[in-house]
Amino acid sequence: MFIGHFGLALAAKKASPSNNLGTSIMAAQFLDLIWPVLTLAGLEKFSIEPGITKLTPLNFEHYPYSHSLIASTLLGIIFGVIYFMIRKDRTNAIVYGVLVISHWVLDFITHRPDLPITFTSENKFGMGLWNYPAVSIIIESLIFIAGIYLYFNKSVAENKKGKWLPLTIVILLALFFVMNIIGPPPPSTSAVSYSALLLWLFVGLGYWADLNRRSV
Ligand SMILES: [Zn+2]
Repeated sequence: MFIGHFGLALAAKKASPSNNLGTSIMAAQFLDLIWPVLTLAGLEKFSIEPGITKLTPLNFEHYPYSHSLIASTLLGIIFGVIYFMIRKDRTNAIVYGVLVISHWVLDFITHRPDLPITFTSENKFGMGLWNYPAVSIIIESLIFIAGIYLYFNKSVAENKKGKWLPLTIVILLALFFVMNIIGPPPPSTSAVSYSALLLWLFVGLGYWADLNRRSV
């Protein structure tokens, strides 16, 4: 899943007035933010195989440290605990922890059976919605749109940046989503990993956006 994760990050604005879009994006996308680092380091593995699913040509062969159920649960707990130690905000700590774990659940819906449960498990899971492109696109878009609605409903711009930055985030994500669907397969795995690192930009954009907005 791609923009669905961002939909949940945007929707988290409803959870508490002090919820921050930057941290929400980091949490909801945490598994995909560390995945390119692990693949470039050679610890996780994927290949490009057009046709492996109808919607994405990526074959996730080995990614237990970023995308096993046990890893996402542990990362969610660690994320929430570290946030709580820094900010002493229990509600947000729980929301961010749950967002980290939600990534696995949303990926489970869309991925073919490639998601492991433990670091070493041979059995892999996934409902494979990527083989039903229309349903997959509709579900992801609905989560994204609901998130956008909640974010703009629960916060207001304090200046022009507060108005345009979140809109920029939403438009860029929608464009990437469309390009992923209609674009050609990526040229190489390293091109995929390096472009996935760009996801960190959205964390920064999220913080910048929320610096210029206030919760209502
Ligand atoms: Zn993922």
